[in-house]
Formats: sequence, C-alpha cells, structure tokens
Amino acid sequence: MNQRWICPTCGAGCLAPSRPRLDDVRRYCLTCSKRTGRLVQRVCPAQERARQAATARRADKVARQQAKAKADAYSWPQVLHVYFRRWRKLDAWEGTYPERSTLVVRHSQVKGHSSGHCALWTGRIVVTTSDDPGASLATLLHEMAHAASREGHTPRFHAILLTAIEEVAGERALPVSRHSRFAFQQSVRVVMRRWIERVGLLQPPVPVPKPAL
Ligand SMILES: [Zn+2]
Ligand SMILES: [Zn+2]
Repeated sequence: MNQRWICPTCGAGCLAPSRPRLDDVRRYCLTCSKRTGRLVQRVCPAQERARQAATARRADKVARQQAKAKADAYSWPQVLHVYFRRWRKLDAWEGTYPERSTLVVRHSQVKGHSSGHCALWTGRIVVTTSDDPGASLATLLHEMAHAASREGHTPRFHAILLTAIEEVAGERALPVSRHSRFAFQQSVRVVMRRWIERVGLLQPPVPVPKPAL
C-alpha cells in the first residue's frame, strides 16, 4: 500500500510503499539533501500516527490492568475467604463444621444487597457480597451456621448462629422468634458492623507482584 512520505524540512512529499527499501530514492528529499549536503529522510505521518496510537493503547491497557489488579487485591472474595478459613474453627460449631465445606464468593450488582446459599448436604456455600462489610460477613456466618448445623432455619440453627456471632463479635444479637426473623437478621448485621468498626476490617494480604517479563 502506498503512503505519503513528507520531508520534515521543506514539506514536499511523494507516494511510496509503507516500507521502501533503504536505498529507495523516495525515502529521501533530494532537494534538501543537495542543499544541506546530507541525506534528508522523509517521514510518513500516517505511520507516525499509527505508532503513537499503538503506544497510547498499550499504556491504556497497562493502566487498566494495574487498576484491576489493585481492585482485586482488596476485593471481597479474598477477605471473605480469609474469614471463612478462620471461622471454620469456631467453638460454636462444636467440632461439627464439615471438612468438605467450600466457599464461592460472587459480587452483587445491586448495591448493598448481600445474599447467600448453603447446600446442607455438602456444606458448599455461595455468598453474594455487597459493599456493606457488615451485611456480607453476617451472610457468611449465617451460611456457615447452616453448614455446621446441616439444618434450615430451625431453632437449633439459630441457637448455633447466635453463639457463633457472640464468639466472633463479643456481643449477642437479638434472639429470634417466629415473627421477628427480619429483626433478627437486621440485628446480626448491626452487631457485625459494630464489630468491624471496633476491630477494623481485615486487609487481605497484598499479592506478590509478578516478575516483569
Ligand atoms: Zn525537503
Ligand atoms: Zn439461611
């Protein structure tokens, strides 16, 4: 494909292939070369623009990757997994916490909405986090109480969960009654929020930077 090559000194140009041979006379402005006594090379503005655009794209991509790595380093999945590992050993479970219990963390698209699910048989927990740490950790502990008790929302489940909350946060949540499940959940969140304010949210370990290629 022919492109326009221009002399940077006099501005005169010609059409030449995008990669002319080194001894191709179209690479050089002969008028200016004769005048200065040295070879004056023409430049190809289209190629310069393409090169600059590629450099900008690369810089942009690196910046996006760095921003994402930084966000990931402090994101919920890691924090929740650290608490999940710690809380498996709570006394509240009385040694019944299932070995094979696993955690999957998803991030909620709805701001402030955290929800969870626990497969009672396997102890596989899925927690959808929100940006509210109290709510997300309350959800995790709730699901872990399901895994430990292998029961749904039974009185025994609630008793175990209350004990676990007290063990974690040093404070009792509202006892649950048949009519106050919502109030109970709210009070669990409040207790967890207060606890996080007191002790500070755990910071996940900063990942070891990958060696530059
Ligand atoms: Zn020239
Ligand atoms: Zn539940």
